[in-house]
Amino acid sequence: MRSILIHTCCGFCGFSTLKNIKKQFDIKCLWYNPNIHPLQEYEKRLNAFKLWAQNGKYEVIIDLYDDKHWFKMIEGKENNEDLRCLNCYKIRLQKTVEIAKQRGIQYFTTTLLISPYQKHEMIKSVCFDLADKNGVDFYYFDERPNFYNNKNEYHKFGFYSQKYCGCVYSQREQESKKVRE
Ligand code: SF4
Repeated sequence: MRSILIHTCCGFCGFSTLKNIKKQFDIKCLWYNPNIHPLQEYEKRLNAFKLWAQNGKYEVIIDLYDDKHWFKMIEGKENNEDLRCLNCYKIRLQKTVEIAKQRGIQYFTTTLLISPYQKHEMIKSVCFDLADKNGVDFYYFDERPNFYNNKNEYHKFGFYSQKYCGCVYSQREQESKKVRE
C-alpha cells in the first residue's frame, strides 16, 4: 500500500481528511503548527489532535513548537495577509515534505485542504511546487463541499474546536469581529 504523511493542523481537519483518504494509504500524521498563538491555544489544539489520533489509532509525529522561527519567517509580512499566509503555509509544508523524504514516505498532503476558510489554491500551488522540488508526490483532494457535514459529525466526539485560524493576527481579527457584533 502507498504511504502518506499528512500535515495535520487540528483534530477536526484530521478527522475530515481521514474520512476522504483512509482506505487508500498507509498513514502517518505530522503535527507541526508553530503559527498557533498563544501557547495555551496551541496546547488545546494539540490535545484534541492527540485524542483524535488515539481514537483512530493513527501513528503521529509531533515536531517542535518553534514559534520564534515562525515569527522570523513572516517578519515584514504581518499586515499583508496573502504574503503572511503564503509563508505560513510554506513553513509548515516544507517541514512535511522534508520529514516525508527523510522517512521514505511516498506522498504528502495537508488537512488545510478541507476548509473553505483557507486559501485553497495557494496551498495547492505551494504543495505542487514542493513536490516538484523534493521528489515527493503530493496527494491533492478537496473536502470543502463536506465541511459543515464533517463539522457536525466531529462535534459528536466532544473534542476541542478552534474559533480562529491560528496566528495572533487571525486571533485579533476574530476578536475585533466579536466586538463589532
Ligand atoms: S491566518 Fe492562518 S494561514 Fe494565515 S498566517 Fe495566520 S495562521 Fe497562517
